[in-house]
Amino acid sequence: MVREILIWPDPILKEKTRLVEAVDDELRLLVDDMFETMYHAEGVGLAANQIGVSLRLAVVDTSQSEEGGIGPMVLINPEILSMEGSIRFREGCLSIPGEAEEVIRAEKVRFRFRDLDWNLVEMEATGLSAVAIQHECDHLDGKVYVERISSLKRERIRKRMKRLKEARRAQASS
Ligand SMILES: [Zn+2]
Repeated sequence: MVREILIWPDPILKEKTRLVEAVDDELRLLVDDMFETMYHAEGVGLAANQIGVSLRLAVVDTSQSEEGGIGPMVLINPEILSMEGSIRFREGCLSIPGEAEEVIRAEKVRFRFRDLDWNLVEMEATGLSAVAIQHECDHLDGKVYVERISSLKRERIRKRMKRLKEARRAQASS
C-alpha cells in the first residue's frame, strides 16, 4: 500500500527513531509499504519516519540511477562506521517535494545494518549510493538535508513547503 509521505517540517521527522527489536509480520508489511511508497514517488530511499513510523528502518534502491548502485535493500538499524573523502551532490528528499540543493557529503561510507533475516551485514558504498545512505541515516537521527544548507535557502524552502501543505489541505477539504 502506498502511504502518505510526511512533508518537512513535521515533528515526527525531527525525532530520533527507535531501534528495531525484531522482524515480525508487521515489520515485513511495513517494509513492503515503504518500497511501494518509494517507487511510487520515484525516490531512491525512504526512511520509516517519513511515513510516520518512528523506527530505525529505511529502504534504498539506487540500482536504476547509478551504475553499480545498491538495492533494493532493507536497512534495519543502520549505522555508518566510517566516512572518506567528500562529494558535492544535488540532493532531493521525498519529504521536501520539488526542491533540490547541493550538499557536501562523504564520497565513500562503510556502514552496518541488519537485513530481514536479522543477519548483520557490513558494506561499502560510493557516490550516489553513499549519499543515499547518509541521507537516510540522517532521517533516522531526526535530520533532513536542508539542515546542511544555508539558513537563507532553508527558510525559502520552509515557506514553499508551508504553501504546499496549505494547498494540499485545501484540496483535501474541497
Ligand atoms: Zn529524505
